[in-house]
Amino acid sequence: MSKVQTVSKQALAVLEDKIQLIHSSQGSIYLVGPINLPLNLFGETVVFQWYCWLQTKEEKEDIHQIIDKLSSANLAEFQQSSVLVYGDFEHEEDALMRMHSICHTGDIFGSKRCDCGYQLKESMQMIVDHGAGALIYLANHEGRGIGLFSKAMAYILQENGYDTVEANEGLGFVDDSRNYDDAIQVLKTLRSKPVTLLTNNPKKVAALIDAGLPISGRTPLWGDVSEFNEAYLQTKIKRSGHLEVKDEGTCPND
Ligand SMILES: [Zn+2]
Repeated sequence: MSKVQTVSKQALAVLEDKIQLIHSSQGSIYLVGPINLPLNLFGETVVFQWYCWLQTKEEKEDIHQIIDKLSSANLAEFQQSSVLVYGDFEHEEDALMRMHSICHTGDIFGSKRCDCGYQLKESMQMIVDHGAGALIYLANHEGRGIGLFSKAMAYILQENGYDTVEANEGLGFVDDSRNYDDAIQVLKTLRSKPVTLLTNNPKKVAALIDAGLPISGRTPLWGDVSEFNEAYLQTKIKRSGHLEVKDEGTCPND
């Protein structure tokens, strides 16, 4: 969309208090929110607080300059990550946390080749049942960081006998190239106490602790095993170090 005019004074006045600047080692993160987001969760309406963030290399303190620049920055061509917060996430002693890597096919289409869509909804429900928590939706993590087009190519290799890890490596990617730095910065802005991580992937716990996220424990997320994802889930368990519980599987994107 082309830019037609500058941001109005009235709009600025409304937005000023809703955008925070977070300084990071890679530049700046602008965090906008909270926004009331009523969601349909297994037929029930549940209200989350939603925030979205934008990472940039340059640093501008003036909110007017930032917003003015964004209207012509073609942001729809890039993905922005966001976070859903439930309950008193800042103060609650024990809060659940899900770092969910985007999965276009699983989350949006409900693909049965993986269980990302299931894990997304299930982790939101677990957070609500627990009373406090957050789900960070990482928009630049498609296919464990290889992108959607490469994931499509990896699926073709998988249809020709490669497992998940071999397919990624066959395309010249390392098995897992995800980065959590900006997500951790955002999380630390929303909460300083440790979190219990919702994941089946112990490597992810280690990576996040390494990256500076305070973690007090891990709660697994299992389910939705079918004939379509069984081989894929087994690869995850055998090749990528995911823990197996009660003969059920996990998602490669976890
Ligand atoms: Zn998936």
